Amino acid sequence: MAATKYKTPRYCAYCGRFFYGKTISTVYCSKECSRNAYNEKVKLEKLEIRRLKRIDELKRSGQEFISITNAVAIFEVSRSSVRRCVISGKASSMRIGKKKLLVRWKDLEAYYSVRPVPIEKKAKLFNLEPDKCYTIGEITEQFGVSQKTVYCHIRAYAIPIRQIGKYVYAPKEEIDNLYKKLK
Ligand SMILES: [Zn+2]
Repeated sequence: MAATKYKTPRYCAYCGRFFYGKTISTVYCSKECSRNAYNEKVKLEKLEIRRLKRIDELKRSGQEFISITNAVAIFEVSRSSVRRCVISGKASSMRIGKKKLLVRWKDLEAYYSVRPVPIEKKAKLFNLEPDKCYTIGEITEQFGVSQKTVYCHIRAYAIPIRQIGKYVYAPKEEIDNLYKKLK
């Protein structure tokens, strides 16, 4: 992976901390975050394997209808979601006695298909091109705060800055969001 000329400012995809990435593809701020993210992924994969195993057991059991409680456990969805499937006719159902409602699990399988595998959170990139930035002077004017305060906020909220010549630039989007929040 080619290293970029200057380090790339971004937020860690795991802990959200601001850091400078060594390469374009660096998404975690530390080895620890990278390991934690990996462990989380492994955990989710295990859960998915467990779910697929349950579905496989159902297939082999030859059972066509299951209780709502089982459907919730197998498809890892809410009771109300299963009920909505029944009411809207997406899943066929049958009643046993007055209270017990059974649902055809193959319909649910088709509807919920495979649970989407979590997409890796993308580390946020900052645009520090001057036209996407305010200078510190512009910030003090536009938001009516002193220069000292602006620098305090920039440090406290880990907003990246870039100096070109005698001007210091901070990304417009971050500054707008910050002062919207602080108002
Ligand atoms: Zn991190």
